[in-house]
Amino acid sequence: MEAGAKTLTLADGTVMKYDALLLASGGAARPLEVPGAELANVFTLRSFADSQAIMAAAREGARVVIVGASFIGMETAGSLSARGLHVTVAASGQAPFQGTLGPEIGRMFQQLWEENGVSFRLGARVARLEGRNQVEAVVLDNGEKLAADLVIAGVGIRPATEMLQGLPLNPDGSVTVDEHLRVAEDLYAAGDIARFPDWRTGELIRIEHWRLAMQHGRVAAHNMAGKKTAFRDVPFFWTERLDIHFEYAGYGRDWDEIIYQGDPASRNFLAFYVKNQRVLAVAACQHGQEMTAIIELMRRDHLPAVGELRQGPVDFLQRLQEI
Ligand SMILES: Cc1cc2nc3c(=O)[nH]c(=O)nc-3n(C[C@H](O)[C@H](O)[C@H](O)COP(=O)(O)OP(=O)(O)OC[C@H]3O[C@@H](n4cnc5c(N)ncnc54)[C@H](O)[C@@H]3O)c2cc1C
Repeated sequence: MEAGAKTLTLADGTVMKYDALLLASGGAARPLEVPGAELANVFTLRSFADSQAIMAAAREGARVVIVGASFIGMETAGSLSARGLHVTVAASGQAPFQGTLGPEIGRMFQQLWEENGVSFRLGARVARLEGRNQVEAVVLDNGEKLAADLVIAGVGIRPATEMLQGLPLNPDGSVTVDEHLRVAEDLYAAGDIARFPDWRTGELIRIEHWRLAMQHGRVAAHNMAGKKTAFRDVPFFWTERLDIHFEYAGYGRDWDEIIYQGDPASRNFLAFYVKNQRVLAVAACQHGQEMTAIIELMRRDHLPAVGELRQGPVDFLQRLQEI
């Protein structure tokens, strides 16, 4: 893609001109960067073909080590454990999802996964993989060796932007857009590759959520068609596994405090991530109805003040009706 010339060149050499272009090329899974990562049966997961390759190797009873305890690692662990594989998750943090959700909610997920047969090795990094042609073991930096028939790395993505020419890329490979998701004249970006201004804080953020990519796409399409629509939506994702319905809205890269209504250990709670006396994000376990009201309150910038949240439960549905 050549931004200045407003052209695209396809792999077969065809050159296409555009009046307006949306870049939504997503990401490529980051491979493990340790000795032995090139062995057979070492996988990443991004595409349907990746999942087929994993399933071909994932016979019942096989020992799988999953590297990374965030979204891809944990979802894959839950799924393969339910299929009768022996699953161990190895990750450097002290709890799953620690950086995104905090240690208490992370431990809740860990306990739930453990109850369903998944083992964890936390607080250690993978030093190397061993095997002749195919992987046979994962060696951690504390010296522990985990036997493995297959290894799956869930260690993040890199935005798929290597084909872009004439555009400044951020160090992580993403492209920065303005509030209209515009990169340059008649050029827009959405989804995993887009670093965009959070309208609530002004911070430039990048979020890898399926629904956010769709929210971005709609706004970019409006603007490509000549409208002037700013992105003012609330990022959101949900997951449902092992009888847990979990939702997260907003974005909080870090926080000063998490205010809980309910207790993560009980698997029934709301969690408010607060920074500088402002709620940046909300997580919910088994609170789907309240979360719908909370998201709407966030969208209208009408969440209750932090002081009120600290005092105890709030009726969010009622609050929504009042504004
Ligand atoms: C296994 C898995 C599970 C996930 N689960 C969830 C979940 O439960 N909830 C959630 O919110 N998010 C989830 N995600 C993340 C979510 O899928 C992504 O955030 C979302 O798909 C990003 O959308 P996108 O349009 O930016 O990119 P993508 O969906 O990755 O789409 C990019 C498209 O561009 C194409 N492309 C890339 N480069 C080129 C090129 N040079 N030429 C032509 N085409 C190109 C790709 O082939 C692809 O079709 C999951 C991701 C994975 C991998």
